[in-house]
Amino acid sequence: MMDSGIVTPKYVSDFSCIGPDCEDSCCIGWNIYIDKQSYKKTMAHRELKPLAKTAMKKIKKSDEQWAIIRSDSEGACPFLDSNRLCKIHALAGEQTLSETCKTYPRTSLVREGDKYRSLSLSCPEAARLILFSPDAFIFERKESGANIMSESSPLWVAKTYDNSIDLLLNEKLNWQEALLAIGFLVNTADKVWANEVGAEQLDIRLDQLTQMAEKGMLQEQYQTLAYADEHQVQAFASIHGMFIDEHPRRDGVRFKTVNDAISTLLNDDRTVDVDKINHVWNTIASPALEEHGDIFKRYILYYIYHEYFPITLGEAPQSAFRLLVLDCFMLRCYLAVIAHKNNGLSESDVILCFQVYHVVRQHKSTFVKGATAMMEKFNFSNIAGIISLLKTGS
Ligand code: SF4
Repeated sequence: MMDSGIVTPKYVSDFSCIGPDCEDSCCIGWNIYIDKQSYKKTMAHRELKPLAKTAMKKIKKSDEQWAIIRSDSEGACPFLDSNRLCKIHALAGEQTLSETCKTYPRTSLVREGDKYRSLSLSCPEAARLILFSPDAFIFERKESGANIMSESSPLWVAKTYDNSIDLLLNEKLNWQEALLAIGFLVNTADKVWANEVGAEQLDIRLDQLTQMAEKGMLQEQYQTLAYADEHQVQAFASIHGMFIDEHPRRDGVRFKTVNDAISTLLNDDRTVDVDKINHVWNTIASPALEEHGDIFKRYILYYIYHEYFPITLGEAPQSAFRLLVLDCFMLRCYLAVIAHKNNGLSESDVILCFQVYHVVRQHKSTFVKGATAMMEKFNFSNIAGIISLLKTGS
């Protein structure tokens, strides 16, 4: 039997927490669970015990959720010292940390018997590496020395995954056109998923789409898609409204920076002025982003890898695709409002937008449910409808 492998992108192997230099903190605003082992070790530590008695509350839900941190009035973990360093880490060492604290922002996914490592974009340092490090996407596979059992996924999953990356990296297509192409591919994936056609259709479709890109046909189709601003207003209002309710650090500087920038782009009736946002996108944000390389292609590549697109939701491939486009739309709007405020986009502005967004996107289970319900309500069911979110007028 073959040994399982561990796949590590360079953005993971290059990562280390920058602690006090971090522009945000992952120790604020979450429910931090402490596992049984960490709880016992911390309580047994002479110097930590007095603080631990008030800072930890035993809940005994499971060995993993043995206790929960009682955060202070600012939502911060009481084990943080004045330099924002963790006292458990400093006094008792990394081995005493609970699993959550030890691993964040590292994640991993097992597929086809291999372990694929990644990072969560809700950490600013992770966002910096993923979006800006030149060799972020160099992948290394090592034998793990063990055998990780996992169910193998159907052929169409691997084919849609590989072919989506192929279309994304097609140099003839910009990121919006590449998403349209991926949408067409996913239409075929939906048919394979529903057992209407065979998985080989996904390769045939890839060839057709590559030829269409070569002839400029996909680019033309993207041009002819309608610009539907009311749709964009509805989508933005529902998703951002959810963020205002759910962001664990909504009173923090970073979320407020984005939210205040949005407030300067409201109409008299308090709805968001999407035409203005799109104008700023075209005139300031998009040109400024070009100086940073292809941020959205990088992001989508990370996304496809990190979520094992299109089985992100374990549902029809089309749902995963809609969510991907919606995420890109929201990020595009956040970038535009910040570009409006700062008259340009620096590296840290870009990190701000992506990181703040993913604090909710990757950690609140209610997000996906809410987003899916919204898309159903406003009828974002076909490709043209969902891709129109990316259109920014002329
Ligand atoms: S958010 Fe990232 S860099 Fe910042 S303290 Fe947490 S792990 Fe470290």
